[in-house]
Amino acid sequence: MRRPSPSHPTRRRAGPLALSLALAVGLGGCSDPAPERPSVVLVTLDTTRADHLGCYGYGKNTSPRLDGLAREGARFDLCISSAAVTPVSHASIFSGREPQNHGVRVLFAAAGYRLPDDVPTLASVLRAEGYATGAFLSAYPVSEEFGFDRGFDVFDNGIGEPAEGKMQDQDGFAGWDTNRFQRRSDDTTVAALAWLETVDEPFFLWIHYWDPHDPNLLPPVEHVRRFVPGFERATTWNVPLYDAEIAYMDEQFGRVLDHLDASGRAADTLVAVTSDHGEGWYEHDWHAHRILYQEQIHLPLILRGPGVAPTTVPDLVRSIDVFPTLLELAGLPVPDGVDGRSLVPLLAGEPDEPRLAYADQLNLWDTNARMLEKRPQDDLLHVLMDARWKLIFRPLRPDESELYDLDADPDEAVNLYRPDHPEGLRLRAELERRDAFVLEGFGEAAGDGERSDALRELGYIDDGDDG
Ligand SMILES: [Zn+2]
Repeated sequence: MRRPSPSHPTRRRAGPLALSLALAVGLGGCSDPAPERPSVVLVTLDTTRADHLGCYGYGKNTSPRLDGLAREGARFDLCISSAAVTPVSHASIFSGREPQNHGVRVLFAAAGYRLPDDVPTLASVLRAEGYATGAFLSAYPVSEEFGFDRGFDVFDNGIGEPAEGKMQDQDGFAGWDTNRFQRRSDDTTVAALAWLETVDEPFFLWIHYWDPHDPNLLPPVEHVRRFVPGFERATTWNVPLYDAEIAYMDEQFGRVLDHLDASGRAADTLVAVTSDHGEGWYEHDWHAHRILYQEQIHLPLILRGPGVAPTTVPDLVRSIDVFPTLLELAGLPVPDGVDGRSLVPLLAGEPDEPRLAYADQLNLWDTNARMLEKRPQDDLLHVLMDARWKLIFRPLRPDESELYDLDADPDEAVNLYRPDHPEGLRLRAELERRDAFVLEGFGEAAGDGERSDALRELGYIDDGDDG
């Protein structure tokens, strides 16, 4: 990697002024230079539901920096995830494909959990175009174990760096005596900013933050007290603590924005922020994810940078649309096989064909899905939805499927499913076309190796309700 000069010159795409300046200094006769590409920063906020951010209407001040980004850029008001488990959802963000087409179907099994080498990803495409690529992550479920390292020059998975004092001093939760498989957003941010100092444009930076995933990785106590007055240590996992973790993550994300500003790179860098899934807080008798109500799959999505004018987009969009959108904004072609569709027309305020969003959870075939002991009805879940109608189809128990009119019933409280409901039939027919049902599993995961150790230490295997 090249080390840049201490202050980065601001690089802009060639406009009329730049062109005339180039001609004026006699460069007009040179052979065509390579087109300048914007740099790209993608931030995935694990376990962050849209409606706990200020820019999505939340009443508490959890996200001043994300709110600022949304004011300067484009906020998508209805972005739907492809899954509610970390690696499956991230694979869709990175490949632009629905799960049945990228191949990551579960968190834990003998197969079906790893991104195949022949699926192009944002990282592999951008590196092939000459981008410096770096990933700075915060937890095991997005590690190389799942194939997310492909395409990255530097892949810092956040594993194996114990952070003394960042849990034990503050945390009363059972079993956590190590930080080996996760790290707090401040540590991830320090590593990412150090890498930014070493690379020239264009670069692609992926930051994954994990703080809101569970109560063990706590912000500093004084920070938590802003949301939980009198806080001393976590004795229960609750909404104020979740909000405090989102706010701490937002503060760390703000350091990335500040760095882009201070280095003169902000104007030439696309910043995309989204999440992999949300988190239930008992709206449907369930805390955590792995099911597919809106609190689990309605994501934030914010874009800012070259080619993105400030706007809000009410249309239904999907996390699979992020990949083709970033490529189009970078002036690059989209590979074959992508299910997502560029959001650039919506960014420009142009009419665009409405989208259908697909999501699934193959909990039955995920050997880590202990939650089925409590929710056996959620063995196999497939969602297909438009902006109004949402079908949650259960192929092994179709009579227990669900249909919601989100216009009339945004809380998904009144199940309208019946086999002959015309909206249900329409969505069911579209669902069948996707050929996404999996009625045989991927096999038992073998042994008690490193993979099992990692999941156990993250709390998955013993009491794993989520991922
Ligand atoms: Zn996640």
